[in-house]
Amino acid sequence: MSEKKKMSLTVKVLLGMALGIIVGLILNLTGLISNPFVDTYIVNGLFHVVGKMFVNALKMLVVPLVFFSLICGVTGIGDIRMLGRVGGKSFALYMLTTAVAIATAIFIAASLGIGKGMNIATDAAFTGKESPPLTQVLIDIIPKNPINAMANGDMLPIIFFSILVGISMLMVGRKAKSFIEGAEIANEIMMKMVTIIMAVAPYAVFALIAKAVATLGLGLLASLAGYVGVLVGSLMFHLFITLMIILKVFSGLSPAMFLKKIRNVQVFAFSTASSNATIPVTMKTVTDRFGVDNSVASFTVPFGATINMDGTAIMQGVATVFIANVYNVDLGIGGYLTVILMSVLASIGTAGVPGVGLIMLSMVFTQVGLPVEGIGLVLGVDRLMDMIRTAVNVSGDATVSCIVAKSEGKMDVSVFNDPEAGVIDVDLEDVLDIDDAVEAEMKAAIDATKNRE
Ligand code: ASP
Repeated sequence: MSEKKKMSLTVKVLLGMALGIIVGLILNLTGLISNPFVDTYIVNGLFHVVGKMFVNALKMLVVPLVFFSLICGVTGIGDIRMLGRVGGKSFALYMLTTAVAIATAIFIAASLGIGKGMNIATDAAFTGKESPPLTQVLIDIIPKNPINAMANGDMLPIIFFSILVGISMLMVGRKAKSFIEGAEIANEIMMKMVTIIMAVAPYAVFALIAKAVATLGLGLLASLAGYVGVLVGSLMFHLFITLMIILKVFSGLSPAMFLKKIRNVQVFAFSTASSNATIPVTMKTVTDRFGVDNSVASFTVPFGATINMDGTAIMQGVATVFIANVYNVDLGIGGYLTVILMSVLASIGTAGVPGVGLIMLSMVFTQVGLPVEGIGLVLGVDRLMDMIRTAVNVSGDATVSCIVAKSEGKMDVSVFNDPEAGVIDVDLEDVLDIDDAVEAEMKAAIDATKNRE
């Protein structure tokens, strides 16, 4: 290993992001993006392939990681009642933060009267898609076929199944010991894979962001400046003020330390626009950097990625006010209360994947009688907004994980307060550099097994 101090992964990822923005802007503003070579081979070739491969690699880890870490979490708790408390507390906090988020957003957007007197023509047609009704969401929590749920990456049934497997292992007792140990080893292996994949993140983040910025309709940002400004402002308000007040009040932990350590997770969420794909990184950060015990994090993180969408709810609020004003519809207090309720409920049943906010929005619009095709007005800027709101979504997941863990005495506060704890400063070379001693040990173990045969 070289003597000189290495750049931490966070710094490298942030550099990748900054370079991605710069290169993307250059390609977009100079019109180079319309050059067929740049478009086909660079942006939709190299950047697209590298970015997608990385997102696939993250998604590849989600299901096995959630499955094994939840089994370890449940069997590690030893007290089933605590599991119920963790579930109850995190559900209540996730719903509360989402409701507060959208209520604040509606208040800010309505006070500023965004969209009033605006007359925007749009060619972007939007046809709504249904998100599942709550009754179906409840039924689907129990998977008919767990393999199917895993194949589809349906988080709630996967969580349900994994918890049940963990509880049953505890009930089987001594006989299940080797299975529990196996799950612990599998969990460790999955976490190692997260480290390997994170080591290439700076390059992938660069590719994802350069492509997104290069292909974004930046001109649209100006014409929708009111909507974009209020939305981004409300998102920042929620992240820096509301969530941090909630963190401080409910846990006493330092918001400054939280904000410093959560950056990595936010960049991953920003570049993938998917809370689900970010689960491996959120989980690693929450446990290694914040000191949250796996027994809490293994549940709160995947649960939050699915049911907690503060940023998405904020978008629903701001977009509803904006489009209602453009179409001159007065929703009244009752209408806005329906919007809050619908958004909170819709967030439970929809997965944290790119663009899902728009589906939720069409459901909200149908409920309050706003024209669904109005969503076409904000479609052009939605990808960028999706990236920003996903970063807020995952910050909410981590906030609630910390609060719940602290309240259950399942948090190592000294890890949380240590700025260096859990910092990843490896690059791919180090990750793949297997220790000679370990290698020799593995070889001896394999030889011993062979000799037994
Ligand atoms: N992309 C968001 C997420 O994964 C959901 C959305 O707002 O569309 O959390």
